[in-house]
Amino acid sequence: MTTANLLEFDLEGLAAFCEKLGEKRFRATQLFRWIHQRGASDFAQMTDLAKSLREKLATTARVEALPVITQHESKDGTIKWLFDVGDGNAVEAVFIPEDDRGTLCVSSQAGCAVGCRFCSTGHQGFSRNLSTGEIVAQLWFAEHFLRKHLKRDDRVISNVVMMGMGEPLQNYTALVPALRTMLDDNAYGLSRRRVTVSTSGVVPMIDRLGADCPVAMAVSLHAPNDALRDDLVPLNRKYPIAELLEACKRYLAHAPRDFITFEYCMLDGVNDQPEHARQLVGLVRSHNISCKFNLIPFNPFPASGLLRSPQPRVLAFARALSEAGLVTTVRKTRGDDIDAACGQLAGDVKDRTRAAERMAQRRVSERTVVLHPVRKTAPQEH
Ligand code: SAH
Ligand code: SF4
Repeated sequence: MTTANLLEFDLEGLAAFCEKLGEKRFRATQLFRWIHQRGASDFAQMTDLAKSLREKLATTARVEALPVITQHESKDGTIKWLFDVGDGNAVEAVFIPEDDRGTLCVSSQAGCAVGCRFCSTGHQGFSRNLSTGEIVAQLWFAEHFLRKHLKRDDRVISNVVMMGMGEPLQNYTALVPALRTMLDDNAYGLSRRRVTVSTSGVVPMIDRLGADCPVAMAVSLHAPNDALRDDLVPLNRKYPIAELLEACKRYLAHAPRDFITFEYCMLDGVNDQPEHARQLVGLVRSHNISCKFNLIPFNPFPASGLLRSPQPRVLAFARALSEAGLVTTVRKTRGDDIDAACGQLAGDVKDRTRAAERMAQRRVSERTVVLHPVRKTAPQEH
């Protein structure tokens, strides 16, 4: 008989499972705490549960982690795990320690179907969605591993960002119970402000997330106009910038934070010119949206054919946005000695979309398009 992996359930789902076993719903809360707060996977250990329930669980359920293929620790304390999700697919999660927080970057899919030009996950193509249990297993393992590793009794991971492999809003059904488990006080108890969904802009799902489970939102913008964004983030052809920004505004009515974070990956000669900064300012003003900008130095990989913007240009771009009144930060690159920085997560994906092949062809046929629409004689400020 196949047993149910209890990591697949949020508290509501676990309560329904307990009811099916003929148990009271409140038993689910105890069980949930054992699993997520204490990291237990052996029902025999859960001594305050009735023996009869433990016996039922032993034959109907399991708590199954993902096998760890590799673990790498960076000089700066960043740790990256590669997890086996079967059939030749592997996904990555990254722990980033800082003085005042511990952030886990979590994957939502094996690969990604969006195919952004500057992202190594996108270049690998798409294999499949992760299940709720596979998303939660990354946090479950990392939290309990780190408590032992760092010899701590209290919570180590205070923030989760859905910025690993995959587009979380293209795996919505699995994502929402996983978020609920992260937020639940009987599990990880993370505040909504400290759980961030990062999306390339799946407009209808932004609205659904606002209604079902609002958490902090980061939107991968990367371009100030549709022509350039169509090329960098192909999903833009379906949901253009104006629609995306309006969805962001609607989301803010539900969001735990009063701004959206716009991520902007700085690509040398592509989207990093003074004119692009001016267009961005105009865009944000015309939509009157409350936001912050996070500039990400591009982490290059050979297949992309793209280069990182030089640091002075990144700083000039940041200054242009700041001077126009937009709060702007430049993301520190962490863990790049272990390929754990943004966009370097490649895992191992049995591509079912032949993305690598298609993208290689695109690079040949569209080599010049990325320079659109930089004005040759951009007027200087000052
Ligand atoms: N699919 C989601 C979340 C995963 S990507 C999204 O696109 O938002 C997480 C972040 O890393 C995104 O902002 C993405 O644009 C950025 N990113 C991807 N490739 C990158 C690279 N090579 N260098 C720097 N940032 C990158
Ligand atoms: Fe997918 Fe995000 Fe990478 Fe784009 S940046 S290919 S949406 S993971």
